[in-house]
Amino acid sequence: NLVKHFPIRGGGILRRASGAVQAVSDVSFDIYDHETLALVGESGCGKSTTARVALALQPLTSGEVTYEGRSLGKMHNRELQRLRRSMQIVFQDPYASVDPRLPVNEIIAEPLRIHGMYNDGGRQQVRDLMKTVGLRPEHGNRYPHEFSGGQRQRIGIARALALKPKVLVLDEPVSALDVSIQAGVLNLLKDLQAEFGLSYLFVSHDLSVVRHVADRIAVMYLGKIVETAAAEDLFLNPTHPYTQALISAIPVPDPRKERTRQRIVITGDVPSPANPPSGCRFRTRCPKYANEIDDAGRKKCSTEEPALVDRGQGHPTACHFAESLQLI
Ligand code: SF4
Ligand code: MG
Repeated sequence: NLVKHFPIRGGGILRRASGAVQAVSDVSFDIYDHETLALVGESGCGKSTTARVALALQPLTSGEVTYEGRSLGKMHNRELQRLRRSMQIVFQDPYASVDPRLPVNEIIAEPLRIHGMYNDGGRQQVRDLMKTVGLRPEHGNRYPHEFSGGQRQRIGIARALALKPKVLVLDEPVSALDVSIQAGVLNLLKDLQAEFGLSYLFVSHDLSVVRHVADRIAVMYLGKIVETAAAEDLFLNPTHPYTQALISAIPVPDPRKERTRQRIVITGDVPSPANPPSGCRFRTRCPKYANEIDDAGRKKCSTEEPALVDRGQGHPTACHFAESLQLI
């Protein structure tokens, strides 16, 4: 039940009532050993904030995070520090997340130094990490600007692996990269997961990217999870109108299928998370609300917030009129 609000103060002489941006509104999920859970949604839907509060990088407004059954909120500082080593994050922009003034071997060694773990074997450890992510150890003295975007992301991954974590949060790890480079980094992430038994929380705005790496996918809209399913199941039987629209927007390589398939268009912008629509938050952009349901149904959508309900297939959806839709 993660909740994260960012307070906003009313400006001007009259000091209007202060409000809050409801970045994350009652989000629940779990991640298992060796599993990849993807959090997917448009930018501004609260995915990154969800990931950051889950790692305790930002305080929660309310809710609880447990790791191996223990609540992070109840841990002492020392324990929390040990736990921090087990949970690392890889950011979207590999250039912004590394210090450009440091050579690569120092960038990778930094977490080891911070945690007092850089000892006699440190140099070799850094060389091994470079090899693990497909970089040449003899390039350790070079600076970040001497590497390509894909290589810089590998540096970020090597750095995140330095402390031997169990959980990696990958926040849009390939979004800044050319499509031709993306597959290489995604394959590396898959190999690393198999080799080190890692669990991933994979944050992305792009369903087609997570399709091939995620075991389960949680779709977020305006601070809430609206649908969760096994990756394959989500693509075959999307049941929330938002998920259906996202999937229908993914181009299909086969031109014959491309012509005949159904495409669902969502219009308009994401409403402000400071003032979400009443009832179902997706209502203002929902094609089903606009075109398919009657007045009584619309009334329900605009007054009752749909709960995330599992209708029996381990595939919970938050829509009063959820139906699976064959798209492909
Ligand atoms: Fe659309 Fe209503 Fe379902 Fe919300 S509850 S997604 S508005 S049909
Ligand atoms: Mg983000």
